[in-house]
Amino acid sequence: MEAEHLAREHADVVAAVEAGADWQQRALTDLVAIPGVSGADGDPAALRRSAEATARLARSAGMDAVELLEVGDAPPAVLATARTTRPEAPTLLLYAHHDVQPPGDVDAWTSAPFTATERHDRLYGRGAADDKAGVITHLAALEAWQRARGAPPCHVTLLVEGEEEVGSPHFDALLRAHADRLAADAVVVVDTLNWQVGQPTLTTSLRGLVDATVEVAATDHALHSGLYGGPVPDVVSALAQLLASCVDGHGAVAIPGFGEDIAPLGASERATLEALPFDEAAFRAETGLRPEVPLAGEPQAHPLERLWRRPHLTVTGIDAPAVAGAANALQPRARARVSVRLAPGQSPERAQRLLRDWLEAQAPLGLRATVTLGAAASPFVVDADHPVVQAAASALEGGYGAPTTFAGVGGTIPFLEPLVARQGPIPVLMAGIEDPDSRAHGIDESVHLGDLRRACRAQALLLPAVTAALDGEGRGS
Ligand SMILES: [Zn+2]
Repeated sequence: MEAEHLAREHADVVAAVEAGADWQQRALTDLVAIPGVSGADGDPAALRRSAEATARLARSAGMDAVELLEVGDAPPAVLATARTTRPEAPTLLLYAHHDVQPPGDVDAWTSAPFTATERHDRLYGRGAADDKAGVITHLAALEAWQRARGAPPCHVTLLVEGEEEVGSPHFDALLRAHADRLAADAVVVVDTLNWQVGQPTLTTSLRGLVDATVEVAATDHALHSGLYGGPVPDVVSALAQLLASCVDGHGAVAIPGFGEDIAPLGASERATLEALPFDEAAFRAETGLRPEVPLAGEPQAHPLERLWRRPHLTVTGIDAPAVAGAANALQPRARARVSVRLAPGQSPERAQRLLRDWLEAQAPLGLRATVTLGAAASPFVVDADHPVVQAAASALEGGYGAPTTFAGVGGTIPFLEPLVARQGPIPVLMAGIEDPDSRAHGIDESVHLGDLRRACRAQALLLPAVTAALDGEGRGS
């Protein structure tokens, strides 16, 4: 009822969103054309062009005080504001990111990765979903409010980051440098997943992440494996043994005590999770998991619980000689990068300590393991019963014409915890724009154009819905 009421009361804004559909798709196409790839392969000039194009779109959506934020050597972020007419109205911080992952094997794409191409209701291209569609969703809502009512229903700060795909290393510095302009009463992130096309989804849990590099060394140079193998150990198999000691026979993390700080699923969280129709066949099709391979992880845990609410260890890189051209030699050293997703409740600092201590203690053959700690990001949970979250759920329902699903995501958004820690416990809304066929980070990434339109409508309704909920709460100020 609430959703219908919202849609009826804002029919003029919804009509303005719908009238802007061509603008939205054209703007997304223009953004996809800029290869703002993050990381070592990235082109800083392209990232700057991508920030500038985003800033131009923000201006054309009626925002002002549009500027590029530059912290250290980070690619520029875009900051823009839109004020409502009521001075005491709450402020929403809308987040998305304009940087993208590298395209990977360009020849494997059906159409060129940086030429947005429409096929069967989907728009293909790197960043078409992650997260340039998120940028467009925010701007479409603001543009529609501007056109229909002359201003949004609350104060809005838009932050479009430029280094999300490499873990937002400068985010904390950015928050510190621009704390005043980024202060908000709630945050809306459009960078997560819808459960299915047409099914709006609010993300209620994210995993955290820690990683580390471990190296084992035996000699100061490579040796002939026939002349020396025996008394001199093989560091590569020793490294494999060390890595294997971190997981059990199901592939679950086996470091003693590692899972002791996992927050148990509450009764209503468990009921929500178990009520989601998890389709193993669809999951297998989505992942390409071979038929002979059973699902991994703790067998007693629901597959979605393994995915969202349990830790998982992945070896993301190994430095050892490549098979092509391998010689019969003992290597002097070998190293690996280990990445561990953390369940809600887990402390990154504790996880790093346990991981380091375990790797150092378990190195076989008397070898010494040298561990260098890397990234650390906290897990994040949202209270689905919070009135602001419930208001957002109604808005999504109004925009999609379908009830909102609450779901977890196994991935990590590193900046959420520092953002909320800095501002106090403000509500965080994470809305989807990808669907299971979006292949974000993969070949042939795409956004569903129907969902793009629905997400833009939903975002336009979310602004007044969340404003009313925050007003009703008599938030701090
Ligand atoms: Zn993203």
